[in-house]
Amino acid sequence: MKKRYLVGNLKMNLNSVSETEHYLVALKKELFGKRIENVEIVVAPSSIYLERFSRELPENVSLGAQDVFWEKEGSYTSQISTSMLNDVHAGFVVIGHSERRLYAHETDGEVGWKVRAALHENIRPILCVGETAEDRERGVAADIVSGQIVEAFRDVSPMMAERVVVAYEPRWAIGSDVIPESEDIFEMRIVIHRALAEAYGPSVADRIPVLYGGSVKESLLDRLCLEPRMDGVLVGRESLYPHELVRMARHIGGYGSTDSEVSDNNS
Ligand code: PEP
Repeated sequence: MKKRYLVGNLKMNLNSVSETEHYLVALKKELFGKRIENVEIVVAPSSIYLERFSRELPENVSLGAQDVFWEKEGSYTSQISTSMLNDVHAGFVVIGHSERRLYAHETDGEVGWKVRAALHENIRPILCVGETAEDRERGVAADIVSGQIVEAFRDVSPMMAERVVVAYEPRWAIGSDVIPESEDIFEMRIVIHRALAEAYGPSVADRIPVLYGGSVKESLLDRLCLEPRMDGVLVGRESLYPHELVRMARHIGGYGSTDSEVSDNNS
């Protein structure tokens, strides 16, 4: 079975050391004794807690950051460098999240600089792309998403391109509980694959994972991930519950989705 990804974007939540500790303890407990082989779980906390997560995350969970800056060091107040991320062993970084595009007015060009900076330092970008509701109404969703892909992968070699994880996140579905149809997600998967295949050829494009993100919860995984043949999901709110995170990982990893399972070691 092809490897899948489950990315938990904790955003600006877990607002204290004690909440963070509580989360880490709960996550460890939820994962204890559970076999999750086909899924790479990535958790991306706020940057202030990256170091703590780095020390305490269970070993079968990877650390992600929520952003990075393209310059290596210097007078860039509030920014986080790739060296800082490497120092805390963050193997992934979310780039171009719609909330960064909205509140920090991040452009496609800047997203591309960040992707290249991360790849250069061996950190895997989780590149977020997606159209607004207006784009969709105007019938330009595919053009917008293809354009985001082209800009983000500009000057990225085929070998490096395979290190990128793309997350298709229609902006209107993030934090809204508005759920797209499987067919619409699958259509956009094809759009993304086509844009990547034009740049790198179909076999490289085949190897670049494409996730879905936007109001994901465990009960919707068939519709939002498995039916549209996505390679995993990027989860916001539900990732704040370790129990849900682990249920989702097991669901997309093909271990079933029920609550009542006993841990695999005991069965
Ligand atoms: C996100 O943070 O990218 C996201 C998809 O959030 P939510 O799952 O809460 O919609």
